[in-house]
Formats: sequence, structure tokens, C-alpha cells
Amino acid sequence: MLYKIRDEITQDYDVIVIGSGLAGMTAANIMGRHGHKVLLLESHNKLGGFATWFFRKDRKHVFDISLHGFPAGMIKTCKKYWSKEIADSIVQLKDVRFVNPQFSVQTDFTKEDYTRILIEKFQLSAEVVNGFFTHLAQMNFFDNSQMTNGELFEKFFPGRNDVVRFLMEPITYANGSTLEDPAITYGIVFSNFMSKGVYTFRGGTDQLIGKMKDELLKNNVHIKMQTRVDKIEVKDGRAKGVVLNGKLIRAKAVLSNGNIRSTILNMVGVEHFSETFIKKVQEVRLNSSSAQVYMGLKEGATIPYIGELVFTSNYPTYNPDRLLDLKVSSRTFSVYYPHETRPQDPAARVAIVSSTNCHYDDWKKLSNEDYEKEKSFMIEETLKGLEAFIPDIRDKLEVIEAATPLTVERYTLHPKGSSFGTKFEGLDISMNLHKNLEGLFHAGSVGIIMSGWLGAANYGVIQANAIESYLSTQEGTHAI
Ligand SMILES: Cc1cc2nc3c(=O)[nH]c(=O)nc-3n(C[C@H](O)[C@H](O)[C@H](O)COP(=O)(O)OP(=O)(O)OC[C@H]3O[C@@H](n4cnc5c(N)ncnc54)[C@H](O)[C@@H]3O)c2cc1C
Repeated sequence: MLYKIRDEITQDYDVIVIGSGLAGMTAANIMGRHGHKVLLLESHNKLGGFATWFFRKDRKHVFDISLHGFPAGMIKTCKKYWSKEIADSIVQLKDVRFVNPQFSVQTDFTKEDYTRILIEKFQLSAEVVNGFFTHLAQMNFFDNSQMTNGELFEKFFPGRNDVVRFLMEPITYANGSTLEDPAITYGIVFSNFMSKGVYTFRGGTDQLIGKMKDELLKNNVHIKMQTRVDKIEVKDGRAKGVVLNGKLIRAKAVLSNGNIRSTILNMVGVEHFSETFIKKVQEVRLNSSSAQVYMGLKEGATIPYIGELVFTSNYPTYNPDRLLDLKVSSRTFSVYYPHETRPQDPAARVAIVSSTNCHYDDWKKLSNEDYEKEKSFMIEETLKGLEAFIPDIRDKLEVIEAATPLTVERYTLHPKGSSFGTKFEGLDISMNLHKNLEGLFHAGSVGIIMSGWLGAANYGVIQANAIESYLSTQEGTHAI
């Protein structure tokens, strides 16, 4: 059932899911499929969270925000928890490129190809390269290693900034990781990506989320969009539901897909937790944010094939601080060739999305005038970067616009426009939330590992299982 904006919700639920990111939707779908009575509430006017898109010029242009690449594991996750049809539309990106002053490399991003490049191009011994990949594969979430990414690279590739750039830059883009983050996060994320390359959804994000919405409705999940939850009701130490327009909608369990810090500190309130827990929550660091430039080609305009995902930089070395700088010279171009991304739409135009990671505060502190100036500067620098590949790109564009961390914050409600949730310490808080407040669960980007399309979707699965086992201890649930 799809509620309209003005519809009043008068029923009780087994579970209320706040937020329809990939984690929230996947959890809702599983629980709905298993016969639980689920209500999915989303503040935006469409489902998907960061897995989103927008149209321009009467839908002649469509831009995907976060459909750049995800691990092969997404095929299995979609087949098992969504549908075979969705899984069958996932295809591999064959042409990932790196172009920077240190090297120019083309790869399909598989472990085999990376191994070949590290040996042939970077002149490393097979022993060192294989030793590194074996080490990554053996890294385990339960290891208590304090090693950082920087230390990991120094151990295997001492003094090789070029190698670090090749291995680390895509992951910095993928989840905001830096050299100071725990090596375990790199190990898990990189091993995921490197198993079988990088994948995308053929059909575009709009088609994917449309299919997911159909599945949710088929599985009797009740959905209400344009509904922002400001308060999770707590009574007698248990989550009892959510408050909408001053009215309590009851549920046996609440799953928040919103940011973990805002869930605890704002939607629930510090008074419902122990002081020690709240102190730990307040210490959770948010991850960095993103800025993007969207470019849509004129009707009939074509570009030469330049690869599907192009990591470019003019900066002489790998420098994670510079990757987040307002005056960044590194960016990733995702090129959407219509016959590949949206074969269902013969009129689809070429779209190019340039992404950079950045600090929210750098943008937030600007005056309105300076904010506009910085946006124009970013667009100009992006065009200059793209001209290296497509010299006449300016003449071919019909649409060009930019989004900043403030845009990210406005659309997803993540504090400081955090694109990848929190740093590593957020994971422990999220996973143990229900132990600190009965009936309250969290799923969504946290701790680097549980972020990205696959991380978020899989975390939804984990938390759906936890909620179902909690519900089995409650009387009168609607499971069949
Ligand atoms: C620019 C960019 C590029 C990216 N590229 C990639 C990529 O190529 N590959 C990849 O794997 N990942 C990528 N990611 C990351 C990936 O998109 C996210 O990690 C993932 O989609 C997050 O899913 P989530 O479940 O955590 O929820 P989110 O996407 O964060 O969604 C949360 C949802 O909850 C809603 N919500 C929050 N609070 C409330 C409330 N109080 N009431 C109602 N609704 C609420 C929000 O509106 C939102 O819809 C990218 C992210 C960004 C920003």
C-alpha cells in the first residue's frame, strides 16, 4: 500500500522503518516478504536515499548520483533479497582508468588485473603483490589489529606513493577512507571490490528503485513518502513507535536508516540512554561529504569513448588531504553512454558526472556570494579536467550544474552532508543500539564497512534478521 501525502496512518505495525536508503528498503523488503507488517517512512519524495537520480529539461537528461560502481556481491544480494530480474540487470564495468602525473592505467578492476599491473607496470615482485593480497584476504572483522591503512601500505610497499595512489585512491572515492583509518576497513572493502571487478545497474538508478518499490508493494510493505520522522517514541525503556504530526504510530520495533548520530541524539533523545553510551555516541566522527558536477550533452552530440570510470588528477602525488580540498585537482568522471546505461530509452543522452570528496565545513562557512563563486570555480575546473579527454566538450553540453555537501545534507538529512555515514567507531554503536534501547535498531552507512550500495544493503539484511529474532520474542506479531 502506498499512502498519499495527506493520508493519515491509523494502523499499528510490527516494524516501522525510518528512511528508504538501500539498507532501509532491503530490511523492509525482507521483513515484508516474511509476513511482518512493515511501514516504510521516507522524508524525500522518492525512495532510494543516496541511490538516486534527477531529471532536467523535461526528462531529456537524467543524472545518477551514486551509480558509479559496486562490488559483484550485489548480484547475490539482489537475487536473494530482491528479485532475479534486478540481479540480472547488474553488469560489469570493463574499463576503469587512472590518469594522473604518476601513471596512466586501464583496468577491469579485478584482482588478476591489478596483480598484473602491479607487477608489470609498477615493477613489484610477484611475491610482494601476492603477499599483500593474501594479507588482505585474511583480514577479519574480529581481528583486534590497530594497524592503519598508512602502516599497511608502508609495510608492503615502503616509499611507493604511486602504488598507494593506485590502491587507495578508488577506495577514498568509494567510502571516504584515509590513510589514518583502520586497515581492516580497507581490507574488507578492497577485497570486496577486487574479487570480481566493479559493477553497475543497467537501466539506471530510476529503473532500479522503481523495481524495488514494486517489490516492496508486492510484499505488502506500506510506504509513505514526504514524511519526515522527528521523534521516536520511548516508554518504559522501549521504542514504541514514531510520532507524526503529534500522533503516535505504534510498532513493536523501529529501524532507523537515518544517520546513527541523529537517530540517537535527535530522534530518540539523550535522556533515554546511559551517560556512558551517549558519550561514546558523541565521539563518533562523521565521514566526509561529496560534491558533484553534472553534465548532459546536446541532442545528437556524441563523445569519443574515454572509459566508464575515470580517476583523474593533476596533483603530482597521492595526498588524501588534497583529495578533500576545496581547490581539489582530483576527480572521478563517470561516463554514462546511453546504449549501455539506459538501453531501454532510445532518446537518452550521454551524461557525465564528476565526483569529488570534500569537507562540509569548507562549503558551509562560505557567504552566499562566495558559495556561488566556489560552485562556478568547481564547474570551470571540472570542464578543464574533462577537456584533456574531450577537447570540445564545452560546445557539446546542454546542461551543467553542481551539487555540494549542502545539497547532500538537504536531500538525505545526513548531518554535515556525510556521504558515507561515520568512521569505524559508528559500527559498534549501530550494531548494539537495541542492547541500549529495547526495540530500536539501526541500519545504514556506518563504520566504512557498512557503507556503499552493497555494504548498506547487506547491513539491512543483518538488521532485518536481528529484528525478526527480536519480534519472535514479542507476543502477537503479524509474522506468518
Ligand atoms: C556522491 C556519492 C557517490 C557515491 N557513489 C557510490 C558508488 O559508486 N558505489 C557505492 O557502492 N556507493 C556509493 N555511494 C554511497 C552509497 O550511495 C551509500 O553508502 C548508500 O546508498 C547508503 O545507503 P543507506 O541505506 O545508508 O541510506 P541513505 O542513502 O543514507 O538513505 C537514508 C534515507 O533515510 C531518509 N531519512 C533520514 N532521516 C529520516 C527521517 N528522520 N525521516 C524520514 N526519512 C529519513 C533519507 O531521506 C534517505 O532517503 C556514493 C555516495 C555519494 C554521496
